[in-house]
Amino acid sequence: MKGFDADVVIVGGGLVGASLALALSQAGRQVTLVEGQQPDFSRVTEGWDARIYAVSPANRRFLSGLNAWPDASRIGTIARMEVHGDAGGEIDFDAREVGGDALAWIAENRWLLAALWARLAEAGVDVVSGVKPAALSTRADAAELELSDGRRLAARLVVGADGANSWVREQAGLTARVDAYGQSGVVANFHCERPHGDIARQWFTGDAILAWLPMAGNYMSMVWSMSEPDALLALDDDAFCARVAEAGASALGQLTLASRPAAFPLRLIRPEAVVAERVALVGDAAHTVHPLAGQGVNLGFQDAATLAELIGGARDAGDWLLLRRYERTRREAVAAMQLTCDGLFKLFHGKDLPALSWLRNTGLNLTNRLTPLKRELVRHAIGF
Ligand SMILES: Cc1cc2nc3c(=O)[nH]c(=O)nc-3n(C[C@H](O)[C@H](O)[C@H](O)COP(=O)(O)OP(=O)(O)OC[C@H]3O[C@@H](n4cnc5c(N)ncnc54)[C@H](O)[C@@H]3O)c2cc1C
Repeated sequence: MKGFDADVVIVGGGLVGASLALALSQAGRQVTLVEGQQPDFSRVTEGWDARIYAVSPANRRFLSGLNAWPDASRIGTIARMEVHGDAGGEIDFDAREVGGDALAWIAENRWLLAALWARLAEAGVDVVSGVKPAALSTRADAAELELSDGRRLAARLVVGADGANSWVREQAGLTARVDAYGQSGVVANFHCERPHGDIARQWFTGDAILAWLPMAGNYMSMVWSMSEPDALLALDDDAFCARVAEAGASALGQLTLASRPAAFPLRLIRPEAVVAERVALVGDAAHTVHPLAGQGVNLGFQDAATLAELIGGARDAGDWLLLRRYERTRREAVAAMQLTCDGLFKLFHGKDLPALSWLRNTGLNLTNRLTPLKRELVRHAIGF
């Protein structure tokens, strides 16, 4: 490492950047993590974070392997999933069909983040927070990052884990195709009158997709993708809860708000490449997907696991052939997920075509009856 401050400098200490830092450090790499914000986890158990994730079994194993799977007190379990089409179509998935305990676990963003950040110091990761990078330059054998406070960091590789509007992606000249869905995801958490029974529920209603995900205790988290969120967000708390309960056929009785509702725009981001000379992208910097399958962060964790496995033990952590192999390895999984989510979105969004409505609802019912196909879908979805 002569002449280098680290093997790898990671820009962005969100879930994906922090998990990559731990995985590389575990493999013996010297890692510096640059996070633009100053994270504060002192009040992590106060209230509920509206940004939640359904973490797949494969990614739970990845996080457990990093000793960063959080305490179970705020983790919900999805043991079963029920999906309702817009004209009578239905399909359900049960973890027991594939011999598992859970299809996925529900965790809050900050609960997962706190568990990862708690491990960074003891794992020997050099953390620089509250500072942003100002310039990135690369040459054949090294990358250099200049920070806004004047510091310079030289490394074999710079990783952009800095989210959907990635600064690293832009600096590296990796142009991305950005397609807006013309929809926002409205998120909020609720206390439920009736037990959720560890069941995730999803309704496709033509122009909108509503998901209720079971959280710890008897709370649930909603992600409602819709074109016109303003009218919903303008409702007072009681009217908002009544509207959400009604949209889910009052399946969980009366709802009480447990976090402020928020909306985020949905975009499909596809960079032409996710590696450049001495640079790699992971997580939302490398791709985004529609949240209807809850796979955004799961793809990101698998980027981190794959990159760490490829460069963890390499002589040169920024070797071009390894970076190309990382890109090839992830391309298929990411493209398949983007295609599936995008295809489902379009299938259910074409509400004015009667043939499409028949196809999607009949398709759900048929698949529900085809046990082997369904079992394969469950296995694929949860990464057994
Ligand atoms: C408001 C909101 C709600 C969401 N809700 C859901 C949901 O309910 N379910 C779901 O599956 N997905 C949701 N998503 C998507 C999900 O959050 C992402 O897929 C996931 O967070 C990707 O993780 P990441 O670590 O790649 O990026 P991010 O979580 O975006 O983390 C990027 C990190 O980089 C830091 N950073 C950014 N720029 C710089 C810079 N220039 N220098 C240094 N640091 C920088 C940021 O501070 C941040 O810590 C939501 C996204 C948003 C924005």
